[in-house]
Amino acid sequence: MSTTPTPAASVLLESLRGIVGPTHVLVGDDLVAPYVTDWTRRYSGPCVAVVRPASTLEVSSVLAACSAAGQPVLVQGGNTGLVGGSVPASSGKAPVILSTRRLSSIGAVDQLTGQVTAGAGALLSAVQDAASAAGWVYGVDLAARDSATIGGTVATNAGGVNVIAYGMTRAQVVGIEAVLADGTVILHLNGLLKDNTGFDFGSLLCGSEGTLGVITAVRLRLHHPHARTSLAMVGCATYGDALALMSASARRSLLIAAEMVDAIGIELMDSVLGIPSPLASSWPVVAFIEVADGGDASGLPLNDSHDAVVAFDAGEQARLWQFRERQTEVYGAKGICHKLDVSVPLSRMEEVLADLGSLLRDAPTVEFYGLFGHIADGNIHVEFIGPAADDVEVDHQVLEVISRYSGSISAEHGVGRMKVDSLHLTRSAAEIAAMKAIKDALDPAGLLNQGILFPTA
Ligand SMILES: Cc1cc2nc3c(=O)[nH]c(=O)nc-3n(C[C@H](O)[C@H](O)[C@H](O)COP(=O)(O)OP(=O)(O)OC[C@H]3O[C@@H](n4cnc5c(N)ncnc54)[C@H](O)[C@@H]3O)c2cc1C
Repeated sequence: MSTTPTPAASVLLESLRGIVGPTHVLVGDDLVAPYVTDWTRRYSGPCVAVVRPASTLEVSSVLAACSAAGQPVLVQGGNTGLVGGSVPASSGKAPVILSTRRLSSIGAVDQLTGQVTAGAGALLSAVQDAASAAGWVYGVDLAARDSATIGGTVATNAGGVNVIAYGMTRAQVVGIEAVLADGTVILHLNGLLKDNTGFDFGSLLCGSEGTLGVITAVRLRLHHPHARTSLAMVGCATYGDALALMSASARRSLLIAAEMVDAIGIELMDSVLGIPSPLASSWPVVAFIEVADGGDASGLPLNDSHDAVVAFDAGEQARLWQFRERQTEVYGAKGICHKLDVSVPLSRMEEVLADLGSLLRDAPTVEFYGLFGHIADGNIHVEFIGPAADDVEVDHQVLEVISRYSGSISAEHGVGRMKVDSLHLTRSAAEIAAMKAIKDALDPAGLLNQGILFPTA
């Protein structure tokens, strides 16, 4: 919903209309509705207005006007974030939502360097398509590709299915343009691979979740595509078997992706979407292993004892990938889903998963739960349904288990609003203080993304 403007807010809104044009300042419940509730439906809050600038200059002017008025601002890309960071808080001073979706330009691919510059509002899939049309591949891929923006993926340092091959989003960023809370523009898009001239703002802004500045454009590194890849969907008796299969595949071929879904997730694909598993039996764990440059027919270490389906062409691979990619969707269809994205050392993965299993099985409020994720990265998505949207008791218990195993409470989705109170489980007091000092230096009035990553002052 949008708040009823105070006289001061009305003056600010008039000035924002002068900057972006009246049709790009959205006020009123119907118009702001798509921007104020997040993808999980667990987080929602009021805003003063949604403002949709179309250029870096307009972003700068909007931030300068809000800064002068002491008006908090929340940055939003595709609103696919899963930790409540993309929408306003339910209480506190309502922000202006700055939507980056109109900053959607994508430059020509530079064939010499294998780089491209994209506006922050360009969709991830549009950047992938532009890279592919020019004979390259962009190294980040995730199921929300048709809604998530490049700016959002940089702000959250998104991971996805190809991290094992190409690294997280931070590894793709070779230049950045961003606007600080007071409207100052920081421009460093030249894409030099060697440039040791002080702080790397691209790295700093990766994973900053909109707390340090609004990313307006990014220079991205691209990769050479693999001529041919093989994808296997394989039934496994244990998580240990899935890990062993991944490890054997990596010794034999170039690993492009290694994912897993448990039996509950595979069953939900059938019961929610009517898509039955192509495997002969039901298995406790199903692994998805994609390799490139294999020496023989598939490059995968499979034999006749495996219950497996192997796909070589893009259509068949997409048919198998949906069993992994649509997990977030099928859990979402069952109700308000608590989603925890954690990572643990690979060597402890089986123990952690056993502990999490007992915890969730015994939790009286949990109706059902499941696990899926990126096994190669030790990154597990823990999903459970039952507790009310604001009941975080089991969430905290899960994160405490992860902390005991020296894992991270957020592998790839970020901290957002969801994990602010648990940050100390993964980061030391000294680290949090250093992060806050950087935040205070770049946004002294604390106007950008209040309550995200750091508690509201
Ligand atoms: C079905 C589904 C699958 C997903 N799979 C994955 C996955 O595999 N891996 C993964 O990492 N994530 C995944 N996600 C989460 C989500 O897609 C990512 O976090 C994505 O990076 C968010 O991009 P966005 O444009 O939607 O950002 P938003 O949701 O709009 O914002 C996310 C955060 O970034 C900030 N932000 C957005 N744009 C900017 C900007 N231009 N400048 C500064 N701050 C900004 C926001 O303030 C917010 O704090 C998935 C989500 C869904 C719904």
